[in-house]
Amino acid sequence: MRAQDLLLVTLREPPAEAEIPSHQWLVRGGFIRRVASGVYAYMPLMWRVLRKVEAIIREEMDATGALELRLPTLQPAELWRRSGRWDTYTVGEGIMFNLTDRQGRELGLGPTHEEVITSLAADLIRSYRQLPVSLYQLQTKFRDEIRPRFGLMRSREFIMKDAYSFHGHGEDLRRYYGSMDQAYRRIFARCGLKVLAVQADSGAIGGGASQEFMAIADAGEDLVLSSGDGRYAANQERAQSLAPPSVPLRVAMDTRFATPGQASIEAVCAAHNLDPTQTVKVLLHRACFAKGPDQPVLTVLRGDQELNTVKLTNTLGPLLVERGTILALERLDVDTLQAHGLQLPVGFLGPDLPDDAIQGAPGLVGGFLRIMDATAADLAGFVCGANVPDQHRRVPGWSMLGLSFTKADVRAAQPGDRCCHDPGTVLTATRGIEVGHIFQLGRKYSSALEACFSNESGSMEPMWMGCYGIGVSRLAQAVVEQNHDRNGMIWPVSIAPFELVIIIANGEEQEQCRLAEQLYGELRAAGVDVLLDDRVERAGVKFKDGDLLGIPWRVVVGRNAARGQIELKTRSARDVLEMDASRLLRHLLPRLQRQRRGSLPEVEV
Ligand code: ATP
Ligand code: MG
Repeated sequence: MRAQDLLLVTLREPPAEAEIPSHQWLVRGGFIRRVASGVYAYMPLMWRVLRKVEAIIREEMDATGALELRLPTLQPAELWRRSGRWDTYTVGEGIMFNLTDRQGRELGLGPTHEEVITSLAADLIRSYRQLPVSLYQLQTKFRDEIRPRFGLMRSREFIMKDAYSFHGHGEDLRRYYGSMDQAYRRIFARCGLKVLAVQADSGAIGGGASQEFMAIADAGEDLVLSSGDGRYAANQERAQSLAPPSVPLRVAMDTRFATPGQASIEAVCAAHNLDPTQTVKVLLHRACFAKGPDQPVLTVLRGDQELNTVKLTNTLGPLLVERGTILALERLDVDTLQAHGLQLPVGFLGPDLPDDAIQGAPGLVGGFLRIMDATAADLAGFVCGANVPDQHRRVPGWSMLGLSFTKADVRAAQPGDRCCHDPGTVLTATRGIEVGHIFQLGRKYSSALEACFSNESGSMEPMWMGCYGIGVSRLAQAVVEQNHDRNGMIWPVSIAPFELVIIIANGEEQEQCRLAEQLYGELRAAGVDVLLDDRVERAGVKFKDGDLLGIPWRVVVGRNAARGQIELKTRSARDVLEMDASRLLRHLLPRLQRQRRGSLPEVEV
């Protein structure tokens, strides 16, 4: 390819809305252009990168035995109603773009494809002899994200590889999940991405075990907690740890005491010489379900702990199965309570806040569902709010309150906490970009959509399912987030838009043009993906653009062209190698060959 023909438009300055380096560089290099909020055009350079990423993904998916197909983007609401996700995805989270066609039928634009694929499997698979089956696609997904940002990182239209597998028993699902895990590690290594595999929350998709692949980067939206010994890593959404021990508090008698204006744990502790671990705090929420009224929830934690709302949401679902999926969990803080016309002594609430405290709030019916974290349950004596303004209470033990709580792990693990597997090790925090997620779905979707097969003994049972996603466009940007410097991107050879750029220093020098053309022909014939920068521009501009675009190898044909000499340089190193043009291929090809494999280990297992 010649740079003349590339419609290359690079920008001097990053666009105002680009907050992170990878977004800035991709826009400045002309790789992507914003069309609307969270909607981008992949320009030819980006498209070349994406096609290379996709080729790697195809090879590795095919190697697991998966078959490629393409499912429709338009999906009937009816399918999503059968799985119980239509309301969650449209009204609840509101992540699914949806519409009504001219016949009045409701449709959604696919944010994911469990429903479609499961209904196809239900139609096609009858017998255990057809199992296992794994199907995948590379396709545009649509999600009406609340906060689209960071370019391709969180966009509303993006490319995903999604795969779905069907099995006759759980063991076979786990076996295949393991081979997908390996395939994912190879894909990311081949793309030159450093990732950490972490335990993950399964989110709205539901099901059993799941693992995320996090590209390590400061700009990552996810917080990963991991142990130094490499034995534990989890998304903070689901991470578990040992809370710091509490300072024992001996309370002889249930007593109230004045705490004027001391509406926070810190204020109470400072004024009464208490440690936060000697207190408990109470948080109120409204949980909205697909069916039935909203549920008021009262959660108790030790005073020094923070609530993990993902864990709380996951706790509530199974307690109220009859109400269907949880659509939202809304914190009832001072402002929301006031908006509902409720005057509660916030800052002075106790675990025994009476059920009638919230009577009259619109939509909230019945008493509290009372949840207690183990950190609070473990306390013998403690201090809590007295449910009266400006008063707290010393309580000798939980039996004093005469209430029953559902005990659950709802606290947020924190960096510095001791690990469950080894209290001698502590958790450290890293930021990550979620580039892939694999799930053992089990039989959730196959049961809901009646995807059953006849097993070896002839009886019908729902299939076991797994699903496996990679954010293809997000991955490509994550590579830039991990590989750039002050001059621009630094693409790994395996997915670079071009492997090598030839720069003609002075396009008016015949010798330079002739030698550059000759090398261009030779390199192409040798299968090198080469760009010839033949633009009528100053050498400095071409060098700058070469750095900006991040093409991993650079050949400069300049002053010494008449003597057959060229300069060879890589994008990431400073050193320039002067050599005879005739030696270029011999020097370059073995190196390129290795680099095309990405950072996979030399010896294959
Ligand atoms: P996130 O937690 O980042 O919103 P998710 O858990 O909803 O992602 P999945 O449903 O697991 O995402 O989708 C599979 C993959 O698709 C993710 O691992 C991620 O790499 C990618 N992805 C998800 N949402 C987006 C988006 N809005 N823009 C770009 N890529 C995305
Ligand atoms: Mg995910």
